[in-house]
Amino acid sequence: MAHKNLSESFALSYSITMKKVSSKTICPLPWVHFSAHLDTTMRLCCNTGGLGFVLDDQGQPLKLKDIESIDQYFNLDFYKKIRNEMMNDEKPNICSKCYEVEDSGGFSVRQGYLSLYESNEDFLNQVANTKPDGETETCVKSLDFSLSNKCNLKCVMCSPDASFLLKKDFDTLGIPYDSKFTEGANKNWNSFDDVERLMPALSENLSEYLTTGGEPFLNKTHFKSLELIVEQGRAGQVALNYHTNCTVENQKLWELWNNFKAVNAHLSIDAYSSLDEYIRQGTSWEKLESIVDKLLAHPKVNAEVHTCVQALNIFNLTDLYEWIAQKPDIPKLPFHIWMHSPRWLHINILPQRLKELAFIKLDSYFKKQSYQDETLVLKKNQILSYLRRSLNEDHDLEQLEVFKERIKKLEEMRGLTPIENLVPELKSLFPTKKRFFFF
Ligand code: SF4
Repeated sequence: MAHKNLSESFALSYSITMKKVSSKTICPLPWVHFSAHLDTTMRLCCNTGGLGFVLDDQGQPLKLKDIESIDQYFNLDFYKKIRNEMMNDEKPNICSKCYEVEDSGGFSVRQGYLSLYESNEDFLNQVANTKPDGETETCVKSLDFSLSNKCNLKCVMCSPDASFLLKKDFDTLGIPYDSKFTEGANKNWNSFDDVERLMPALSENLSEYLTTGGEPFLNKTHFKSLELIVEQGRAGQVALNYHTNCTVENQKLWELWNNFKAVNAHLSIDAYSSLDEYIRQGTSWEKLESIVDKLLAHPKVNAEVHTCVQALNIFNLTDLYEWIAQKPDIPKLPFHIWMHSPRWLHINILPQRLKELAFIKLDSYFKKQSYQDETLVLKKNQILSYLRRSLNEDHDLEQLEVFKERIKKLEEMRGLTPIENLVPELKSLFPTKKRFFFF
């Protein structure tokens, strides 16, 4: 009889869990994810529509240093309300970006995480034990630190909140940015204290740790956090995920990686050779190549190139594809990131005939390839449909003027080769001034 009760109660709790998990709006992140912004302000995740700040019970954004205990943090009214809404098929406002993607037929970050966690025992237990008001037991499986704006590059599409070196350029050119956030991002991660204090509780059930920046390979706090995970004996269960600019060599860090389950490195490279040096200023292509080769040779590393598709590289993507194709153990096409900001680098600043030219160039390149791998076919189709879509969109004349002005000012300030010498297709956007000869 007792046996029957046990199985009945298990069946009941299983069916409650499945009902909660099958809620149409549930996302695992408010249960399992711990995420801190560039300036150590806590956020729900990096995909929320606005800044996604986590608020304390007085409605104020919290910083890492304000967190006394992880249990208390995950049971703030802010989190309880989100979980309660999700378990009741409601859509928390803060997550509107995900639901909008789904409503328009796309695949959201929420759906991606749900497919990862929907059969994860720890997560299912957490959901089963979540009280009706949203209170939960803590079980952090996923860590996401945007570790400061310390970076050695000044990429053309970036801003001082992500690379402090750009502050001077923005000040000189009078381009507005959030100076308080930028200063916070420059100094708030400098102390190891909070990471040291919180890491034992954070690493107890950890399985993935994403680090972005800034450039994570430069960051001492990141290195310290990995040492702490190794000391806790948890490294073998944790996969490390990075976005790196591939220009910083850090042998000590790479040795430490040998303790971890895996290292997934997203290599941010936007073009081949001198055009990449132009877009991602501070890059030496020769050094980048040698670092990429070392990363690819590391036994724990799985890598993929991530490329920000923009007006500056749309005509030269095929050169990058050819370079990637020669590299071993790496997907032969990059993961394309569509440029949303800044608008002045979006491909819609290009006149129709230039967008058509870019489409023809890519289309004829792909016609010569015979991809068998379905993810490569998907990437190929995605970039071609992106260009097709853009052909039906308006020519953004206002942002084209910003592009012309910004590019020439940056070239002058940084002593760069004119872009039309690197990308002849852009020459018509910068007509040479007529010269008058007097006899
Ligand atoms: S639903 Fe989307 S925005 Fe909300 S926590 Fe999940 S991934 Fe982040």
